[in-house]
Amino acid sequence: MIPTSFDYVRAGSVREALGLLALGDGTKVIAGGHSLLPMMRFRLVQAPKLVDISRLEELRGVQEYKKGLRIGATTTYAELARHPLVRERCPVIAEVAADIADIQVRNRGTIGGSLAHADPASDMPAVMMALDAEFQLRSKKGGRRTARAREFFKGAFVTDMTEEELFTDILVPGMGRNAAVYVSFDSAASGYALAGVCASIGRKRATISDISVAVTGVAEVVFLAGALERMKDTKCDAAVLAAAAKEAVAGLEIAGDVHAPSSYRRHIAEVAIIRAVERAYQRAGA
Ligand SMILES: Cc1cc2nc3c(=O)[nH]c(=O)nc-3n(C[C@H](O)[C@H](O)[C@H](O)COP(=O)(O)OP(=O)(O)OC[C@H]3O[C@@H](n4cnc5c(N)ncnc54)[C@H](O)[C@@H]3O)c2cc1C
Repeated sequence: MIPTSFDYVRAGSVREALGLLALGDGTKVIAGGHSLLPMMRFRLVQAPKLVDISRLEELRGVQEYKKGLRIGATTTYAELARHPLVRERCPVIAEVAADIADIQVRNRGTIGGSLAHADPASDMPAVMMALDAEFQLRSKKGGRRTARAREFFKGAFVTDMTEEELFTDILVPGMGRNAAVYVSFDSAASGYALAGVCASIGRKRATISDISVAVTGVAEVVFLAGALERMKDTKCDAAVLAAAAKEAVAGLEIAGDVHAPSSYRRHIAEVAIIRAVERAYQRAGA
């Protein structure tokens, strides 16, 4: 389909972009356009004006932040995948970015766009939740604020952001002795996760001292699997892990679709949890 007509403005600064969003006339931000344009073509989104932020250098790039990372919202997947600091400090982000879609999407798609879009099958929200990242948001009237990833995703395509806010940065805390791994089973057609799991684990010798596990693709919204917390103070016992993985998805209403029936999604979610936890445990001990 053809989108409804719209105006297009390339923002020359963050200030200009914030001013346009503050008009409250339905203006939307466009970054890589890989999610927004398909939504507009299906007429699921009709915006009177797009403000393009993709060339704003102030929103792009990766810097050291405390012992972790500050990632600009318009940093592309391709940049994340090859960035030496990301690969050194938080390799799971580079690994996930390198595996998203195809080279065209990775060259244009931005991490901020993915997080703001909040597709319930996208990969980065689970990574950000497991790592306990924080998001920096800015608006003309409200100034700057910080939102925790764990409280940001409210539903399918729904976040804590208002229409006037611009997503500016992602703050990823230092990993310390933790290690994280992402495991997903992807749709062969789209590459989106049928079930995707990010596990972040800290170890004291053979014992798990810290664990966070986030799951995407199976529910209406990405979620932290609290059942896995019982792995804390264990030595990653296989039977305890299998029981916790089962419990993590037991009460969920999982919708089936043309890509996978709900029973299969539930099964692969359990398998992805088990593999992600086992691999993160191994990585934390290496
Ligand atoms: C063929 C294909 C395959 C894909 N496969 C995968 C996959 O396997 N896994 C996966 O996770 N994703 C996948 N995607 C989705 C892709 O990750 C997203 O399209 C992309 O990352 C979104 O970023 P963008 O810069 O293109 O956002 P845009 O499309 O420009 O914007 C998306 C939404 O976010 C808003 N937005 C963007 N940036 C900001 C900002 N800084 N502040 C406020 N709001 C903002 C826009 O207004 C819009 O509502 C795929 C997409 C395609 C086209």
